[in-house]
Amino acid sequence: MVKVIIKKSAYDYEKLKLDITSILGSLNTGLIREGTRVLIKPNFLLAYPPDKAVTTHPLVVKAIAEYVLNLGASVQISDSSGSPTNIFNQILKVGGYQDALKGLDVTFKDFTRSVMINTASSFKNIEIAEDALKAEVIINAAKLKTHTQMRLTLAVKNLFGTIVGLKKPQWHMKVGENREKFAELLVTLYSLLKPQINILDGILAMEGDGPGSSGIPRTLGMLMGSSDAVTLDMAVCEMLNIAPLWLYTNKAAHKLDLIKDYTIEGEMDEVKGFMFPKETSMLFGPPVARKFMRKHLATRPKNVDGACKLCNSCVKICPAKAIKNDGKKLIFDYEKCIRCYCCQEICPHKAIEIHEPLMGKTIMKMFSK
Ligand code: SF4
Ligand code: SF4
Repeated sequence: MVKVIIKKSAYDYEKLKLDITSILGSLNTGLIREGTRVLIKPNFLLAYPPDKAVTTHPLVVKAIAEYVLNLGASVQISDSSGSPTNIFNQILKVGGYQDALKGLDVTFKDFTRSVMINTASSFKNIEIAEDALKAEVIINAAKLKTHTQMRLTLAVKNLFGTIVGLKKPQWHMKVGENREKFAELLVTLYSLLKPQINILDGILAMEGDGPGSSGIPRTLGMLMGSSDAVTLDMAVCEMLNIAPLWLYTNKAAHKLDLIKDYTIEGEMDEVKGFMFPKETSMLFGPPVARKFMRKHLATRPKNVDGACKLCNSCVKICPAKAIKNDGKKLIFDYEKCIRCYCCQEICPHKAIEIHEPLMGKTIMKMFSK
């Protein structure tokens, strides 16, 4: 039976440190000792201040690092962001990590090198960050957020950051239209890395159209931990009062026979009225009909009037090369667009929204009657 530990917590450092120490103390069954090389993998999606809830809170990362250092182990803190350019140092600064962890003997290092792993899965070869593969212990320090494509990004999804740089949108390109397949990729990645400890920062969570600037921060006051990321994600679904297999990654884990029985240690308060993201429609039907459906039925990214600053971040990240900047506005090529929503995720100005074509809306209404 896997345990999921839940603490009601806050970003008051004394309290937070006690809670993190208690969770890690319970999960560290002799894994971390003097000399152990520990990798902390936070959510460093983009460079936002902690109150935007886009990244794992710096004090959570600090408390984890202090726990590990006190045992005489070494700490490396690494991720590969969602940006097409290198913004690692900007994330450390804007995200508050530089200040919060000042004076601690930790190494900040973005994932740069990948190693090709030959997997027995349908994905065959997957390139994964070398530093993640080399770590003796991985502490997966995820954020509780919504995700317009995967519904939620929790402990399993957090590991997508171990795919380095632009290899991330390339995976979206390969499997992005098929969310269940993408979830299977994430679970496969999890099975390869198997972080021994998983912590979820749900103190200031995100609801609405996450995981980037379009999401809305929401205080849940929850800190969770487990030795098993899938189990942790299952428990979050219970807390948010949703069927666990509604979450694509849980469904994929179920298919791969990775669901385990679990027990809750601590108090789990049911969260009421959590705002889930706008559902992006999936393409379906025979290939000949896809062009029509893609154009008239499928949701699509669209600029919010007057919000775009033409910064080109979305143009650079788009794996399908479906966005052009003509100097005055962006032009989306919806025939090329694979609806991965990397553009919405990356946009720093809340300038991309998910638009549902009128015909799609009408048809959805007819079917929901
Ligand atoms: S336009 Fe946006 S949603 Fe479409 S493929 Fe490019 S990044 Fe993905
Ligand atoms: S939509 Fe956002 S990311 Fe794309 S160019 Fe405009 S401001 Fe930049």
